[in-house]
Amino acid sequence: MTRLDAVLWDMDGTLLDSEKLWDIAVRELAGELGHEMDDAMRHALIGASGPNAMRIMFTGLGLDPTPAAITEAGEWIERRVIELFQDPVPWRPGAADALATMKAAGIPMALVTNTKRSLTEYGLDTLDRGYFHATVCADEVPEGKPAPDVYLRAAELLGVAPEHAVAIEDSPTGALAAEAAGCTVLVVPCEIAVPTAPGRTFRDSLVGLTPADLHALVVDRHRVG
Ligand SMILES: [Mg+2]
Repeated sequence: MTRLDAVLWDMDGTLLDSEKLWDIAVRELAGELGHEMDDAMRHALIGASGPNAMRIMFTGLGLDPTPAAITEAGEWIERRVIELFQDPVPWRPGAADALATMKAAGIPMALVTNTKRSLTEYGLDTLDRGYFHATVCADEVPEGKPAPDVYLRAAELLGVAPEHAVAIEDSPTGALAAEAAGCTVLVVPCEIAVPTAPGRTFRDSLVGLTPADLHALVVDRHRVG
C-alpha cells in the first residue's frame, strides 16, 4: 500500500534559519586563517558535514588541509557556532506550524542533520525534542550527507521504508543524501538554488504545508514508478 509513513526533517536552513549563523562562523574562520571567503565557496559549504566542509574550505582558500589543521579549524567553528546558538535560533517561515500539524496528524518524524550531535542539541532546544521520534546526526553514522547514511539510519529507527518517507531539505547536498537513501524528497530552498531533478518536488516555503501534501508526493512517486 502506498502511503506516507514518516517525515524526515533536515535542520539547518529547513526548520531553522541557522545557515545565517553558520555563515557568520565560517566567514570569521576564513578571516582567522588570513583569507576572505567568496560567495562561491560559501555556497559550496552549505549542507556539507564537519570535516568535509573544512577540507572544502582549506582547499578553496589554497591552504594545506593537514589533519591537525582540519581538526583545529573544526574545533574553532564548533566553539563559535555554540556561542551563536546560545540565543534562540530563528525558525524558517512556516516550520513551527508544519511540525505541529504533522504531529497532530500522528505522523512519525525524525530530525536528520549533517550537524554534529553536540551542536544539534542547541538546535533542539529551539525546535522541541517532543516532535521527533528519532534524531540522527552526521557524527553518528559512517558518512554524512550527501551519503545516504543519516537517512537510512533515521528510517531504520522509525521502522519505516525510506520510499514511504518524505525528506524535507533545503540544500543540494541534503537532497542528494535523501535521494540516495530512497526517500521521496521535498526541496524548500533557503540560501542557495537547488537544481531540479527527476522525482524532486519544490516548494517556496513550509507555510501551509499539510499531511495531505506530503501523502500526495509519496503516491505520485509510486505512480510514476
Ligand atoms: Mg540544510
